[in-house]
Amino acid sequence: MSKYSVNEKGYYGNFGGAFIPEMLYPNVEELRQNYLRIMETPDFQEEFQRLLIDYVGRPTPLFLAERLSEKYNTQIFLKREDLNHTGAHKVNNTLGQILLAERLGKKKIVAETGAGQHGVATATMCALKGLECIVYMGEIDIERQAPNVARMKMLGAEVRAAKSGSRTLKDATNEAMRHWINNPTDTHYIIGSVVGPHPYPDMVARFQSVISAEIRKQLLEKTGSELPDYVLACVGGGSNAAGVFYHFLDQEEVKIVAAEAAGWGVESGKSAATTFLGKPGILHGSKSLLMQTVDGQVVEPHSISAGLDYPGIGPLHAHLWETKRAEFMAITDKDAMEAGFELAKLEGIIPAIESSHALAALKYLPTTPDQKVVVGLSGRGDKDLATYMKWM
Ligand SMILES: *Cc1c(COP(=O)(O)O)cnc(C)c1O
Repeated sequence: MSKYSVNEKGYYGNFGGAFIPEMLYPNVEELRQNYLRIMETPDFQEEFQRLLIDYVGRPTPLFLAERLSEKYNTQIFLKREDLNHTGAHKVNNTLGQILLAERLGKKKIVAETGAGQHGVATATMCALKGLECIVYMGEIDIERQAPNVARMKMLGAEVRAAKSGSRTLKDATNEAMRHWINNPTDTHYIIGSVVGPHPYPDMVARFQSVISAEIRKQLLEKTGSELPDYVLACVGGGSNAAGVFYHFLDQEEVKIVAAEAAGWGVESGKSAATTFLGKPGILHGSKSLLMQTVDGQVVEPHSISAGLDYPGIGPLHAHLWETKRAEFMAITDKDAMEAGFELAKLEGIIPAIESSHALAALKYLPTTPDQKVVVGLSGRGDKDLATYMKWM
Protein backbone atom coordinates (compact mmCIF):
# COMPACT_ATOMS: atom_id res chain seq x y z
CA MET A 1 0.00 0.00 0.00
CA SER A 2 1.14 3.52 -0.79
CA LYS A 3 2.16 5.77 2.08
CA TYR A 4 -0.13 8.32 0.46
CA SER A 5 -3.22 6.07 0.64
CA VAL A 6 -5.83 6.44 3.28
CA ASN A 7 -5.54 3.95 6.21
CA GLU A 8 -8.36 1.82 7.69
CA LYS A 9 -9.27 4.61 10.09
CA GLY A 10 -9.64 7.09 7.24
CA TYR A 11 -6.40 8.98 7.84
CA TYR A 12 -3.67 10.27 5.57
CA GLY A 13 -0.87 10.67 8.10
CA ASN A 14 -2.21 13.16 10.65
CA PHE A 15 -5.17 14.27 8.56
CA GLY A 16 -8.61 12.92 7.69
CA GLY A 17 -10.93 10.85 9.84
CA ALA A 18 -14.66 11.18 10.23
CA PHE A 19 -15.75 13.89 12.68
CA ILE A 20 -19.48 13.67 12.33
CA PRO A 21 -22.53 14.15 14.51
CA GLU A 22 -23.98 10.95 15.93
CA MET A 23 -27.01 11.29 13.66
CA LEU A 24 -24.92 11.14 10.51
CA TYR A 25 -23.06 8.03 11.61
CA PRO A 26 -25.38 5.39 10.02
CA ASN A 27 -25.20 7.08 6.59
CA VAL A 28 -21.46 7.52 6.57
CA GLU A 29 -20.93 4.05 7.96
CA GLU A 30 -23.16 2.50 5.27
CA LEU A 31 -21.08 4.26 2.65
CA ARG A 32 -17.78 3.28 4.28
CA GLN A 33 -18.72 -0.38 4.45
CA ASN A 34 -19.87 -0.55 0.85
CA TYR A 35 -18.00 1.89 -1.39
CA LEU A 36 -14.98 -0.25 -2.25
CA ARG A 37 -17.01 -3.42 -2.62
CA ILE A 38 -19.48 -1.77 -5.01
CA MET A 39 -16.79 0.06 -6.97
CA GLU A 40 -14.99 -3.23 -7.59
CA THR A 41 -18.01 -5.11 -8.97
CA PRO A 42 -17.91 -5.83 -12.72
CA ASP A 43 -21.40 -4.37 -13.03
CA PHE A 44 -20.31 -1.02 -11.58
CA GLN A 45 -17.08 -0.91 -13.55
CA GLU A 46 -18.83 -1.73 -16.83
CA GLU A 47 -21.36 1.08 -16.45
CA PHE A 48 -18.84 3.60 -15.07
CA GLN A 49 -16.36 3.01 -17.89
CA ARG A 50 -19.06 3.00 -20.55
CA LEU A 51 -20.60 6.30 -19.39
CA LEU A 52 -17.17 7.90 -18.99
CA ILE A 53 -16.66 7.19 -22.69
CA ASP A 54 -20.11 7.68 -24.19
CA TYR A 55 -21.58 10.37 -21.94
CA VAL A 56 -18.69 12.30 -20.40
CA GLY A 57 -16.52 12.10 -23.54
CA ARG A 58 -13.41 10.42 -22.14
CA PRO A 59 -10.57 9.94 -22.57
CA THR A 60 -9.87 13.65 -22.65
CA PRO A 61 -6.92 14.62 -24.87
CA LEU A 62 -3.40 15.19 -23.57
CA PHE A 63 -2.35 18.12 -25.74
CA LEU A 64 1.25 19.18 -26.39
CA ALA A 65 0.92 22.98 -26.23
CA GLU A 66 3.70 24.01 -28.59
CA ARG A 67 3.51 27.78 -28.39
CA LEU A 68 3.19 27.71 -24.62
CA SER A 69 6.11 25.26 -24.47
CA GLU A 70 8.22 27.61 -26.55
CA LYS A 71 7.43 30.50 -24.25
CA TYR A 72 8.50 28.58 -21.12
CA ASN A 73 11.32 26.69 -22.82
CA THR A 74 10.09 23.26 -21.81
CA GLN A 75 7.54 20.66 -23.00
CA ILE A 76 4.06 21.41 -21.71
CA PHE A 77 1.19 18.96 -21.99
CA LEU A 78 -2.35 20.05 -21.11
CA LYS A 79 -4.76 17.44 -19.72
CA ARG A 80 -8.01 18.68 -21.24
CA GLU A 81 -10.62 18.14 -18.51
CA ASP A 82 -12.29 21.26 -19.93
CA LEU A 83 -13.55 19.07 -22.79
CA ASN A 84 -15.66 16.86 -20.51
CA HIS A 85 -19.45 17.10 -20.67
CA THR A 86 -20.46 19.99 -18.37
CA GLY A 87 -17.05 21.59 -18.89
CA ALA A 88 -14.86 20.38 -16.03
CA HIS A 89 -13.49 17.39 -14.14
CA LYS A 90 -16.30 17.40 -11.56
CA VAL A 91 -18.49 15.11 -13.64
CA ASN A 92 -16.04 12.17 -13.16
CA ASN A 93 -16.95 12.17 -9.49
CA THR A 94 -20.67 12.88 -9.78
CA LEU A 95 -21.02 10.02 -12.27
CA GLY A 96 -19.23 7.63 -9.93
CA GLN A 97 -21.29 8.68 -6.92
CA ILE A 98 -24.62 8.46 -8.77
CA LEU A 99 -23.87 4.88 -9.81
CA LEU A 100 -22.90 4.09 -6.23
CA ALA A 101 -26.07 5.73 -4.86
CA GLU A 102 -28.23 3.66 -7.22
CA ARG A 103 -26.59 0.48 -6.00
CA LEU A 104 -27.18 1.52 -2.38
CA GLY A 105 -30.86 1.82 -3.26
CA LYS A 106 -31.00 5.61 -2.86
CA LYS A 107 -33.72 7.51 -4.70
CA LYS A 108 -32.76 11.08 -3.89
CA ILE A 109 -29.59 13.12 -4.12
CA VAL A 110 -28.52 16.12 -2.10
CA ALA A 111 -25.46 18.23 -2.89
CA GLU A 112 -23.84 21.54 -2.02
CA THR A 113 -22.37 23.93 -4.53
CA GLY A 114 -20.33 27.13 -4.46
CA ALA A 115 -19.93 28.52 -7.94
CA GLY A 116 -22.52 26.07 -9.19
CA GLN A 117 -20.21 23.76 -11.16
CA HIS A 118 -20.65 20.79 -8.84
CA GLY A 119 -24.38 21.52 -8.64
CA VAL A 120 -24.65 21.46 -12.43
CA ALA A 121 -22.64 18.22 -12.68
CA THR A 122 -24.87 16.64 -10.02
CA ALA A 123 -28.12 17.89 -11.58
CA THR A 124 -26.91 16.53 -14.92
CA MET A 125 -26.35 13.04 -13.56
CA CYS A 126 -29.66 13.08 -11.67
CA ALA A 127 -31.44 13.93 -14.92
CA LEU A 128 -29.63 11.09 -16.69
CA LYS A 129 -30.70 8.66 -13.99
CA GLY A 130 -34.12 10.08 -13.13
CA LEU A 131 -33.23 10.77 -9.48
CA GLU A 132 -34.62 13.64 -7.43
CA CYS A 133 -31.99 16.34 -6.87
CA ILE A 134 -31.75 19.05 -4.24
CA VAL A 135 -28.79 21.45 -4.34
CA TYR A 136 -27.95 23.81 -1.49
CA MET A 137 -26.24 27.02 -2.52
CA GLY A 138 -25.34 30.13 -0.53
CA GLU A 139 -27.74 33.01 -1.08
CA ILE A 140 -24.85 35.25 -2.17
CA ASP A 141 -23.62 32.64 -4.65
CA ILE A 142 -27.13 32.28 -6.10
CA GLU A 143 -26.96 35.97 -6.97
CA ARG A 144 -23.39 35.79 -8.31
CA GLN A 145 -23.84 32.63 -10.39
CA ALA A 146 -27.21 33.09 -12.06
CA PRO A 147 -26.40 31.09 -15.26
CA ASN A 148 -25.52 27.97 -13.26
CA VAL A 149 -28.66 28.35 -11.15
CA ALA A 150 -30.65 28.45 -14.40
CA ARG A 151 -28.86 25.35 -15.69
CA MET A 152 -29.60 23.37 -12.53
CA LYS A 153 -33.28 24.34 -12.71
CA MET A 154 -33.52 23.44 -16.39
CA LEU A 155 -32.00 20.05 -15.55
CA GLY A 156 -34.79 19.52 -13.04
CA ALA A 157 -32.97 20.18 -9.77
CA GLU A 158 -34.36 22.15 -6.87
CA VAL A 159 -31.95 24.87 -5.74
CA ARG A 160 -32.29 25.82 -2.06
CA ALA A 161 -30.72 28.97 -0.66
CA ALA A 162 -28.41 28.69 2.36
CA LYS A 163 -29.17 31.82 4.35
CA SER A 164 -26.93 31.36 7.39
CA GLY A 165 -23.42 32.66 8.09
CA SER A 166 -21.63 34.23 5.13
CA ARG A 167 -24.23 32.67 2.80
CA THR A 168 -21.57 31.00 0.64
CA LEU A 169 -20.11 27.51 0.10
CA LYS A 170 -19.35 26.48 3.67
CA ASP A 171 -22.87 27.41 4.75
CA ALA A 172 -24.36 25.50 1.82
CA THR A 173 -22.28 22.48 2.91
CA ASN A 174 -23.58 22.75 6.47
CA GLU A 175 -27.18 22.83 5.24
CA ALA A 176 -26.66 19.90 2.84
CA MET A 177 -25.27 17.86 5.76
CA ARG A 178 -28.25 18.85 7.89
CA HIS A 179 -30.58 17.76 5.10
CA TRP A 180 -28.85 14.40 4.94
CA ILE A 181 -29.21 13.90 8.69
CA ASN A 182 -32.95 14.47 8.33
CA ASN A 183 -33.28 12.14 5.31
CA PRO A 184 -30.90 9.30 6.08
CA THR A 185 -32.49 6.29 4.40
CA ASP A 186 -33.51 7.37 0.91
CA THR A 187 -30.89 10.07 0.20
CA HIS A 188 -27.24 10.06 -0.85
CA TYR A 189 -25.10 13.15 -0.32
CA ILE A 190 -22.73 13.84 -3.23
CA ILE A 191 -19.76 15.86 -1.98
CA GLY A 192 -17.98 17.67 -4.81
CA SER A 193 -14.35 17.47 -3.74
CA VAL A 194 -11.85 15.35 -1.78
CA VAL A 195 -13.19 16.78 1.48
CA GLY A 196 -15.70 15.64 4.08
CA PRO A 197 -15.63 12.65 6.45
CA HIS A 198 -13.97 9.36 5.47
CA PRO A 199 -14.67 7.68 3.04
CA TYR A 200 -15.46 10.72 0.88
CA PRO A 201 -11.90 11.96 0.26
CA ASP A 202 -10.74 8.48 -0.77
CA MET A 203 -13.85 7.74 -2.80
CA VAL A 204 -13.70 11.03 -4.72
CA ALA A 205 -9.95 10.64 -5.33
CA ARG A 206 -10.54 7.17 -6.77
CA PHE A 207 -13.23 8.46 -9.14
CA GLN A 208 -10.98 11.32 -10.27
CA SER A 209 -7.93 9.06 -10.61
CA VAL A 210 -9.06 8.25 -14.15
CA ILE A 211 -7.31 11.52 -15.05
CA SER A 212 -3.79 10.35 -14.18
CA ALA A 213 -4.45 6.80 -15.40
CA GLU A 214 -5.08 8.37 -18.81
CA ILE A 215 -2.12 10.74 -18.54
CA ARG A 216 0.30 7.83 -18.01
CA LYS A 217 -1.03 5.96 -21.02
CA GLN A 218 -1.12 9.03 -23.27
CA LEU A 219 2.33 10.20 -22.25
CA LEU A 220 3.75 6.76 -23.00
CA GLU A 221 2.23 6.87 -26.47
CA LYS A 222 3.48 10.39 -27.15
CA THR A 223 6.92 10.35 -25.56
CA GLY A 224 7.88 6.74 -24.86
CA SER A 225 7.75 7.31 -21.10
CA GLU A 226 4.82 7.22 -18.70
CA LEU A 227 6.36 9.66 -16.27
CA PRO A 228 6.63 13.43 -16.66
CA ASP A 229 9.07 15.57 -14.67
CA TYR A 230 6.27 17.68 -13.20
CA VAL A 231 2.54 17.43 -12.67
CA LEU A 232 0.69 20.63 -11.88
CA ALA A 233 -2.87 21.29 -10.76
CA CYS A 234 -4.90 23.89 -8.89
CA VAL A 235 -6.31 23.07 -5.46
CA GLY A 236 -9.63 24.29 -4.12
CA GLY A 237 -10.76 21.31 -2.10
CA GLY A 238 -8.36 19.31 -4.23
CA SER A 239 -10.34 16.87 -6.39
CA ASN A 240 -8.89 17.66 -9.80
CA ALA A 241 -5.43 17.79 -8.23
CA ALA A 242 -6.01 14.41 -6.56
CA GLY A 243 -6.98 13.03 -9.96
CA VAL A 244 -3.94 14.49 -11.72
CA PHE A 245 -1.52 13.39 -8.97
CA TYR A 246 -3.01 10.00 -8.04
CA HIS A 247 -1.01 7.58 -10.19
CA PHE A 248 2.22 9.53 -9.68
CA LEU A 249 2.20 9.73 -5.87
CA ASP A 250 4.54 6.77 -5.41
CA GLN A 251 6.86 7.83 -8.26
CA GLU A 252 8.98 10.19 -6.21
CA GLU A 253 10.92 11.30 -9.30
CA VAL A 254 7.76 13.02 -10.54
CA LYS A 255 7.58 16.44 -8.90
CA ILE A 256 4.11 17.42 -7.75
CA VAL A 257 3.09 21.07 -7.71
CA ALA A 258 -0.20 22.30 -6.23
CA ALA A 259 -1.38 25.84 -7.01
CA GLU A 260 -3.44 27.50 -4.32
CA ALA A 261 -5.36 30.74 -4.70
CA ALA A 262 -3.48 33.58 -2.98
CA GLY A 263 -6.18 36.10 -3.91
CA TRP A 264 -4.76 39.61 -3.46
CA GLY A 265 -1.65 38.09 -1.83
CA VAL A 266 -0.93 35.73 1.07
CA GLU A 267 -0.53 38.61 3.55
CA SER A 268 -3.39 40.73 2.21
CA GLY A 269 -6.24 39.35 4.33
CA LYS A 270 -7.95 38.53 1.01
CA SER A 271 -6.57 35.09 0.27
CA ALA A 272 -7.47 31.40 0.07
CA ALA A 273 -3.93 29.98 0.29
CA THR A 274 -4.72 27.34 2.90
CA THR A 275 -1.30 25.71 3.34
CA PHE A 276 0.29 29.13 3.87
CA LEU A 277 -2.38 30.52 6.19
CA GLY A 278 -4.06 27.46 7.66
CA LYS A 279 -3.61 25.48 10.87
CA PRO A 280 -4.84 21.98 11.64
CA GLY A 281 -8.53 22.00 12.42
CA ILE A 282 -11.81 20.28 11.68
CA LEU A 283 -14.21 21.39 8.96
CA HIS A 284 -17.03 19.49 7.28
CA GLY A 285 -16.21 16.20 8.94
CA SER A 286 -12.47 15.83 8.60
CA LYS A 287 -9.25 17.04 10.15
CA SER A 288 -7.13 19.04 7.75
CA LEU A 289 -5.52 22.42 7.29
CA LEU A 290 -7.99 25.21 7.73
CA MET A 291 -7.90 29.00 7.67
CA GLN A 292 -9.08 29.99 11.14
CA THR A 293 -8.76 32.59 13.85
CA VAL A 294 -6.87 31.84 17.09
CA ASP A 295 -10.12 30.72 18.67
CA GLY A 296 -10.98 28.44 15.79
CA GLN A 297 -13.49 30.52 13.83
CA VAL A 298 -13.29 29.87 10.08
CA VAL A 299 -11.71 32.81 8.24
CA GLU A 300 -13.58 33.95 5.14
CA PRO A 301 -11.40 33.13 2.14
CA HIS A 302 -11.02 35.22 -1.01
CA SER A 303 -10.16 34.24 -4.55
CA ILE A 304 -11.20 35.72 -7.89
CA SER A 305 -12.05 32.15 -8.79
CA ALA A 306 -15.22 30.88 -7.15
CA GLY A 307 -14.04 27.26 -7.35
CA LEU A 308 -10.93 27.95 -5.24
CA ASP A 309 -12.67 30.15 -2.70
CA TYR A 310 -12.64 27.56 0.11
CA PRO A 311 -11.03 27.92 3.57
CA GLY A 312 -9.69 24.34 3.72
CA ILE A 313 -8.13 21.62 1.59
CA GLY A 314 -8.70 17.88 1.49
CA PRO A 315 -6.78 15.73 4.02
CA LEU A 316 -4.76 14.01 1.27
CA HIS A 317 -3.33 17.38 0.25
CA ALA A 318 -2.62 18.37 3.85
CA HIS A 319 -0.62 15.13 4.07
CA LEU A 320 1.22 15.81 0.79
CA TRP A 321 2.05 19.23 2.19
CA GLU A 322 3.23 17.94 5.60
CA THR A 323 5.38 15.20 4.07
CA LYS A 324 6.68 17.66 1.45
CA ARG A 325 5.67 15.24 -1.31
CA ALA A 326 3.99 18.16 -3.05
CA GLU A 327 5.20 21.72 -3.39
CA PHE A 328 2.46 24.26 -2.74
CA MET A 329 2.51 27.60 -4.55
CA ALA A 330 0.39 30.63 -3.74
CA ILE A 331 -0.86 32.14 -7.00
CA THR A 332 -2.42 35.60 -6.90
CA ASP A 333 -5.55 36.68 -8.76
CA LYS A 334 -3.29 38.78 -10.99
CA ASP A 335 -0.92 35.93 -11.87
CA ALA A 336 -3.87 33.67 -12.65
CA MET A 337 -5.70 36.17 -14.84
CA GLU A 338 -2.57 36.85 -16.86
CA ALA A 339 -2.00 33.14 -17.34
CA GLY A 340 -5.59 32.73 -18.53
CA PHE A 341 -5.20 35.44 -21.17
CA GLU A 342 -1.85 33.99 -22.19
CA LEU A 343 -3.31 30.52 -22.83
CA ALA A 344 -6.17 32.02 -24.86
CA LYS A 345 -3.76 33.97 -27.09
CA LEU A 346 -1.07 31.28 -27.43
CA GLU A 347 -3.18 28.13 -27.75
CA GLY A 348 -6.76 29.18 -28.51
CA ILE A 349 -8.06 27.72 -25.24
CA ILE A 350 -9.96 29.81 -22.69
CA PRO A 351 -9.37 28.13 -19.32
CA ALA A 352 -11.51 28.29 -16.19
CA ILE A 353 -9.93 30.82 -13.80
CA GLU A 354 -9.32 27.92 -11.41
CA SER A 355 -7.20 26.20 -14.07
CA SER A 356 -5.41 29.49 -14.80
CA HIS A 357 -3.92 29.22 -11.30
CA ALA A 358 -2.18 25.99 -12.32
CA LEU A 359 -0.96 27.59 -15.56
CA ALA A 360 0.42 30.56 -13.63
CA ALA A 361 2.71 28.24 -11.68
CA LEU A 362 4.64 27.51 -14.91
CA LYS A 363 6.68 30.68 -14.70
CA TYR A 364 7.95 29.75 -11.22
CA LEU A 365 9.25 26.30 -12.22
CA PRO A 366 12.97 25.79 -12.89
CA THR A 367 12.27 23.74 -16.02
CA THR A 368 14.64 22.85 -18.84
CA PRO A 369 13.84 22.16 -22.56
CA ASP A 370 14.12 18.38 -22.22
CA GLN A 371 11.66 18.19 -19.32
CA LYS A 372 7.98 17.30 -19.54
CA VAL A 373 5.35 19.16 -17.58
CA VAL A 374 1.72 18.04 -17.38
CA VAL A 375 -0.79 20.72 -16.39
CA GLY A 376 -4.29 19.76 -15.30
CA LEU A 377 -6.66 22.01 -17.24
CA SER A 378 -9.56 21.39 -14.89
CA GLY A 379 -12.27 23.31 -16.73
CA ARG A 380 -13.28 25.68 -19.47
CA GLY A 381 -13.60 29.41 -19.07
CA ASP A 382 -17.02 30.15 -20.55
CA LYS A 383 -18.46 30.59 -17.06
CA ASP A 384 -15.72 33.14 -16.31
CA LEU A 385 -15.98 35.39 -19.36
CA ALA A 386 -17.55 38.28 -17.44
CA THR A 387 -14.72 38.18 -14.87
CA TYR A 388 -12.06 38.04 -17.59
CA MET A 389 -13.68 40.97 -19.42
CA LYS A 390 -13.88 43.08 -16.28
CA TRP A 391 -10.18 42.43 -15.69
CA MET A 392 -9.32 43.72 -19.19
C1 LIG B 1 -14.60 23.23 -8.72
C2 LIG B 1 -13.46 23.46 -9.62
C3 LIG B 1 -12.13 23.46 -9.14
C4 LIG B 1 -11.79 23.31 -7.68
O1 LIG B 1 -12.18 22.12 -7.09
P1 LIG B 1 -11.13 20.97 -6.77
O2 LIG B 1 -11.89 20.02 -5.95
O3 LIG B 1 -9.99 21.59 -6.04
O4 LIG B 1 -10.69 20.41 -8.07
C5 LIG B 1 -11.11 23.63 -10.03
N1 LIG B 1 -11.35 23.82 -11.35
C6 LIG B 1 -12.61 23.84 -11.85
C7 LIG B 1 -12.80 24.06 -13.31
C8 LIG B 1 -13.70 23.67 -11.00
O5 LIG B 1 -14.94 23.71 -11.50
